[in-house]
Amino acid sequence: MTPLLASVSSFSLQALRAARPVLWIRPESDAAPAAAPFTLADVKAAHDRFTRFAPLLAQLFPELQATAGVIESPLLDAPAMQQTLGLPASAGRLWVKADHALPVAGSIKARGGIHEVLEFTEKLALAQGLIAPGDDYLKLATPQARACFSQYQVAVGSTGNLGLSIGVIASALGFRAAVHMSADAKEWKKARLRARGVEVVEHPGDYEKAVAAGRRQVDADPKGYFVDDERSASLFLGYAAAALALRAQIDQAGIVVDAEHPLFVYLPCGVGGAPGGIAFGLSLIYGKHVHCFFAEPVQSPCFLLRMMAGYGQLPGVPVPPSVYDIDLTNQTEADGLAVPRASDLAYDAVGGLLAGVYTVADDTLYSDLARLHGSEGLRIEPSAAAGFSGPRHLLGSLQGQQWLRQRGLSAHLPRATHLAWTTGGLFVPAQEYDQFLSRGQRLAAAPAAHTDAPSLHHSRRA
Ligand SMILES: *Cc1c(COP(=O)(O)O)cnc(C)c1O
Repeated sequence: MTPLLASVSSFSLQALRAARPVLWIRPESDAAPAAAPFTLADVKAAHDRFTRFAPLLAQLFPELQATAGVIESPLLDAPAMQQTLGLPASAGRLWVKADHALPVAGSIKARGGIHEVLEFTEKLALAQGLIAPGDDYLKLATPQARACFSQYQVAVGSTGNLGLSIGVIASALGFRAAVHMSADAKEWKKARLRARGVEVVEHPGDYEKAVAAGRRQVDADPKGYFVDDERSASLFLGYAAAALALRAQIDQAGIVVDAEHPLFVYLPCGVGGAPGGIAFGLSLIYGKHVHCFFAEPVQSPCFLLRMMAGYGQLPGVPVPPSVYDIDLTNQTEADGLAVPRASDLAYDAVGGLLAGVYTVADDTLYSDLARLHGSEGLRIEPSAAAGFSGPRHLLGSLQGQQWLRQRGLSAHLPRATHLAWTTGGLFVPAQEYDQFLSRGQRLAAAPAAHTDAPSLHHSRRA
C-alpha cells in the first residue's frame, strides 16, 4: 500500500475535525441501538397508502398521468460513469437509483414528505366523514373536501427540498401550507413555493432553527399540522417504502442479491430520515446481503458523529452530538445535507444496521456532478452526487479494503452491485445547473488536486 493511500484512508477524529474526507466503519459491537419499532407490515402500509392515493395524485399532477399517479424513479445502469470513476469491472457494477428525477418534488423528499401529508389527509378525511375505508379517493378533490382542508395548515421547517415536497403536495390538496426556510435555502426554491401559494417564512439561522420556528408556529394553531423532519415515523416509512419498489426493479433488471452477490448502497444523508428509511427497508428485504453507507458533507457529518457517540467513540462530547461540537461549520453547498444534528429516530432505527458513514468535500460533489453529466447525461444537484464517492472510499482506502476482507466480501466483488442513490435535481433552474456544471468541469479537469479524497486510480496502481 502506498503511503499516500494510507494517509488519506485511516479514520481519525483529527481528520474529521479538519474536514478531510473519511470513511468510518461501524464496529461489530453490543452497543448497537435496539431494532426500530417498525416492521415490514408498516413499510407495506406506507406503500399501499401511495397506491390508494394514486388516482387522486394523477388528477392533481399532470406529470403523473403517464404513471397513473405512481411517484417512482428508474434504476439505471451506469457503465459510462463507472468507467469515468475508474471502477474496474472486477469490483462489480455501478447502478444509479435516479431519485433526482422523482416527479412532483424533484428530490427524494417526494417519498417521505408526500407520504406524511397523504397520511394526515387520509386520517383527517376519515375522521370528517369525507371518505370511508375503501372509498374512491377522488372524492378528496371535491369542493366540499377542499373547503374542509383549507381550514387546516400544514407546516414544516426545511433547508429547501423537504419544504418543496410538503408545500407542493399540501397546497395541491387544498391545505394552507407554510414552509419555514433556513438561511441556506435557495431563492429558486422559495420562488417555486410562493408561485404555488405556499407561505414561505425565512429564518436567519440554520436548519434546526427553522424547524424550531415552524414547530412553535404550529403549536399556536389548533388546526395546524407540523411535519417534524427530526422525529417523524410517517416520513421515515414513506422513505422505507422505496425499498419495495426497488426490489421489483432489481428483479426486473436481473440483478441477484445474495451472499455471493453483495449489494452496496450509497445514500446521501442529512438528518438521516431518507437514507435511514431506505436502509431500513432494504435490510428488511435483503438482510445481511445489503451493505448501506451514508454519505455526508465534510462540514456536516452529523450522522457519523451520532454513530460514533452511540459506539462510545466520542468521549467528552454531549449526546446527541452536533457538528458544532467538533468545531465544524455546517457550511456546505449540498442542499438538504447541511444538518448539524442527526435524527434520533433514524439513529435508533438504523444505527445497528449501517455498514458505515463517509464524508465528501464539496469540490468532489461538483466534480462528480460534472462526471455524471459527461458520462451518462444525468442532471443532478450537488448533494445527490455524494453517493459516487462510495466506491472510492470502499475500494480506494485501507479502511474500506480491510472491511471488505474482514467481512469476506473481497472475493465476491466481481459480482457486486454498487448503487449510488441520486437524491435531487429535477427542478434546479437551467442557469443554476450550468453554474454547478462549469464549476464541476473545472474541478474534474484537475483530478485529485483539489481534495485528498481516496482515489480509485491510486488504488489500482497500488
Ligand atoms: C433531504 C435530502 C437528503 C437526505 O435526507 P435526510 O432525511 O435529511 O437525511 C439527501 N439528498 C437530498 C437532495 C435531500 O434533499
